[in-house]
Amino acid sequence: MINKIDHIAIAVNNLEASLETFRKILGYDESAFRIEEVASEKVRVGFITIGESKIELLEPLSDESPIAKFIAKNGEGMHHIALAADNLDAERVRLDAENITPLAPPKEGAGGKQIMFLHPKQTNRVLIEFAQKKK
Ligand code: ZN
Repeated sequence: MINKIDHIAIAVNNLEASLETFRKILGYDESAFRIEEVASEKVRVGFITIGESKIELLEPLSDESPIAKFIAKNGEGMHHIALAADNLDAERVRLDAENITPLAPPKEGAGGKQIMFLHPKQTNRVLIEFAQKKK
């Protein structure tokens, strides 16, 4: 079951500068921020907790990062919407019956969550992530 929007992700060139921008926008102090490196994706991630949801700022750590490639092609901006799912295996079966195919099998993402993505070609050109909390 899909429960809520877990986070909205934005690709940025400079994580500190973007966190400062969102600190001003939200009027939050830095206790709402958390930074994590996800080596598998070659990104540094800044999380800003807003109630039950988060904004995720993605800064590439190398030109090989998928986020670097995204920024080179599109510039900074909206990268994906993540939906919180109870059970990724069950969601895969459900999506398969709807002829929607994930880009790849689930893998570990930031925060130790299991994540998988749906191709934007199938989702009105918005990359969708399904995220399941670590059990
Ligand atoms: Zn995400």
